[in-house]
Amino acid sequence: MGKEIPGFAHKFILNLLYPARCPVCDRPAPFGTDICPDCLRALPVIETRRCAKCGKPVEEFEKYCEDCAKNPHAYTCGLGIFLYDEQMKKTMAALKYKGRREYGAVLGRLVFERARSELLRWRPQAVIPVPIHPERRNQRGYNQAEEIARPIAELSGIRFCPDLLVRTERTGPMKKLTRAERFENMENAIAVRSGGHVPDRVLIVDDIYTTGATIDAAAGALRKAGARQIYFLSVCIGAGFMITY
Ligand SMILES: [Zn+2]
Ligand SMILES: [Zn+2]
Repeated sequence: MGKEIPGFAHKFILNLLYPARCPVCDRPAPFGTDICPDCLRALPVIETRRCAKCGKPVEEFEKYCEDCAKNPHAYTCGLGIFLYDEQMKKTMAALKYKGRREYGAVLGRLVFERARSELLRWRPQAVIPVPIHPERRNQRGYNQAEEIARPIAELSGIRFCPDLLVRTERTGPMKKLTRAERFENMENAIAVRSGGHVPDRVLIVDDIYTTGATIDAAAGALRKAGARQIYFLSVCIGAGFMITY
């Protein structure tokens, strides 16, 4: 083995050889960055009033979205940072299905930057990514939620617990399922690893929040194992409630 290259020089050389691709336009990002300034500005950050429970955009006069007004959730509260629009659909698909693992780090950092005040208020003691099934993880080579959660843990200094939850069932794609079917599908699909220590206040991290079925499954397992305050952060969140109840 040769001499070790200092971190910054290593990064510099790597960046020259393999410029980071921007998670929005998928082109090489300007040197030394990981997202184009224009693409960053164009991201659909949710800045309107949010549901007090799930963080979905709501009308000025509403406290809860239609879903949270009707249905209980296993988590305490949380929010998604970006609207799951056509652009974000492409970005999330690239992260999940096209091997753009590095997009997770950029998105995780952006989530952290936009959720600082929530993190200070919630004071979670563990950052826990939503697990995927081991077979899927082997196929993909990584868990996208873990890639997003890692920088949130690093930047906030909160303990990173990527192995605390396990996916006990391999669930199929939920795109075409109704809300009720999604919850049924996820029931018992996530559990706390045996012997895993669950603190009082936890933060679950995932890529997309749609009906909340996945986050609720994770939150339910954590609550059973002793968590009392269960928060979540997701990169994206759907705008309205699911029409296919
Ligand atoms: Zn770009
Ligand atoms: Zn809601």
